[in-house]
Parts: sequence; C-alpha cells; structure tokens
Amino acid sequence: GYQPASRVTRIKESASVLAAARVRELKAQGRSIIDLTVGEPDFDTPEHVKQAAIAAMEAGETKYTSVTGTPKLRSAILQHVESRTGATYGENQITIAGGAKQVIFTAFMASLDEGDEVIIPAPYWVSYPDMVLANDGSPVIIACGDEVDFKLTPAALAAAITPCTKWLVLNTPSNPTGVVYTEGELEALAAVLAEHPHVQVLTDEIYDEIYFGTGRAASLVAAAPALRDRILMVNGVSKAYAMTGWRLGYGLGPAALVASINKLQSQISSCPSSISQAAAAAALTGDQSFVADCVNAYRERRDAAVAGLNAIDGLSCTSPDGAFYAYVRCACAIGKTTPGGALIEDDQDFVLYLLDAASVAVIPGSAYGLGPYFRISFATSLETIKAGVEAIDKAVRALN
Ligand code: PLP
Repeated sequence: GYQPASRVTRIKESASVLAAARVRELKAQGRSIIDLTVGEPDFDTPEHVKQAAIAAMEAGETKYTSVTGTPKLRSAILQHVESRTGATYGENQITIAGGAKQVIFTAFMASLDEGDEVIIPAPYWVSYPDMVLANDGSPVIIACGDEVDFKLTPAALAAAITPCTKWLVLNTPSNPTGVVYTEGELEALAAVLAEHPHVQVLTDEIYDEIYFGTGRAASLVAAAPALRDRILMVNGVSKAYAMTGWRLGYGLGPAALVASINKLQSQISSCPSSISQAAAAAALTGDQSFVADCVNAYRERRDAAVAGLNAIDGLSCTSPDGAFYAYVRCACAIGKTTPGGALIEDDQDFVLYLLDAASVAVIPGSAYGLGPYFRISFATSLETIKAGVEAIDKAVRALN
C-alpha cells in the first residue's frame, strides 16, 4: 500500500486553504458565515484581460509554449518590472510558473540541500516554512512582533545568519500584516547582507501594487542594486489584477539560479497555460486603471476595518500600508471564558469561538507563526466587513 514520502509527512496543508475549506463546508450546511479569511481579490478579472484570453484561444494559441513563456509575456514582464523598479533584466533571467507560489517552491527545490537554512521573519505567509521543509531545508524563524512593527530588523537578521544560511525570505507588502518595508529599511537590511555574500534573498512582492502610501511600494531590487546578483524577485498577476485562478507568476534573478529553476520547470509543467500567459501579458501591458480602482476600494475598507476593530475593547491593530489584511492583537481574550464555559487558551481557541458564537471566520495568528493575533482580510465588501466587526464586538463582550 501507499506510504507517504518523508517530505509529505514533514509538512502540513496550507492553513488558509484549510480555513477556506471550513467556511465552504459550513456554508454548505446552511450556516451563514461572515467570511473574513479571503486571500484573493473579490473583484472579477478585468474585461480586457478576459478578451485577450478569448482572442488567444481563437488565434490557436492553445499549445505548449517555451518553458520561459511566450515572447509577448516575457517582454510584458520585463517592461513592467523596469517601469516599477528601474531594474532591467535579460531574457535569461526570467522564469514563469503556475503562480508565484510555484516559483517560490521551485526556487527552493533548485537551491536547497539538507542542512541549508532559510531565514523567515514571522509572522510569515503560511507556505514558506513548509515549502522549505518539503525541499529538505531548515526554516529559521525570527519572531518580529508589534514592538518592531512586524518587520525584520538589521540586528535580528545579523544574529540569525550562519554559514548554513542559503536564503532570507522577505515579503513586502506582507501577508498577513500588510506592513511595507521602506526603502531605508531595505537598505539597512541590504547593508547586513553585504557582509554575508553567501546569503541570497527571495523577495516576494506579490502585493506590490496594493499600496496605500504615496508613489510605489519600495522594492528590494531598487533599494539594493549591489545585491542584484543574489536576489530572486517574485511577483505575479494574481493579486493586482484579480487573476488568482489563472495561475500565473514570475521570478527574476541571477541567470544561473533561473536556469536551474527552468530546468526543473521543464520536467514539472513544461509551461504554464498558454491562455493564462496571453491574459497576463494583456493585464501587464493594458489599462492600469483597474488596479487604482481596486486600491481605492481596499483603502476605504481598510479604514473601516481598522477603525471598527480598534473601537472594540481589548483588540488592537495598526493600519496596514499594503496588501488587504490586518493583523489584530487579541491578547485580551486569552484566559477568558466563553458563555458556554470554555476557556480560551490561545488565538486558535479564540478564532474557533468567533466562528461558533459569531459566525465570523478569521485566521489565527499562530498559523502565521506569531500569536496571539488573528488575520482579517478586507478583500470583501464593506458591508461584510462592518457586519464582521459588529459580530466580533458582540462576541468579545460576551467573554468573562
Ligand atoms: N506570496 C504571498 C505572500 C501570498 O499571499 C500569495 C497568495 O496568497 C502568494 C505568494 C501566491 O500567489 P500566486 O497566486 O501567484 O501563486
């Protein structure tokens, strides 16, 4: 019979995928759930992007492409990244895959051996540690609490680097906190990395377009040009263009690393969907007003969510500068008792209580490696956010 490989038993299923499945299950049972777990834009893919996909199908672009994608997509990515960061990349420095997620996975697959360490600041996107473990590496988690604004400090980075460090993973804007590193903060981290030439950086900038500050979110490739030959910058069309289901992400980095990733991709998937490639090229080169409209909507929802949550006695969160999440401190609820008599011992208990008592679904901070917090998403309607905040308020008041 089947015996799972050790790489499978070493990892767990994605907490956000599980949370989404739980919400679907409860809804199927007829429960009405206020879902604040959503990890994807609630907007539809823009019409001109869909039309580009249809046109590609009709033109017969329905076959395998090169591992590195169609020339149209490659040039769209290179142009987009140059206009956003000022960084120019060559044709041999690009990899594309079925989502940024797959780029990150294959980057670890292409570079990690047993004993290699990957520094991951917490709270982190749920998948990083398991992706490292699945590829034989060792995650090294650095807790970055609200006292450091959930950001990795140069001192904490310096203290975590060992001769075995292969990668630092940075995610800005961040899932789950929405914090965005400033250019100065990135430069300070780069100064530490300059002393440790064996450390590469995977910078996950998938939320870069969803930024509430002025100008653009800072990018490591712009802030640290001297490190360019050891930075893998990962991005994709999922979040900015509401294209999560199209599965198209990309990575730009040193040619040798990219060649290894592409070699693996040639054995894993040959190439992402040709139709999604056409759609992604249209998204990157077409009218960008969709992105600005989404950001305005997210900003309004963020303001409502943050104001509402901070008005709840005992809960607190800072206003995120990017992405569509807020990370809410719920230490006040720990140690309290529910009306049903259950003791809330940690943020997982609290989140279960919110689901049972208030029909609100959020994700516990422990899933992201830093409790006691919970993550709410504001990639949902203002109405849902307001209903969620109200229900959470009631549930918190009912605790003893
Ligand atoms: N990186 C982060 C931080 C994310 O939150 C997500 C999606 O939730 C991804 C990467 C994956 O994006 P994609 O849809 O391109 O695989």
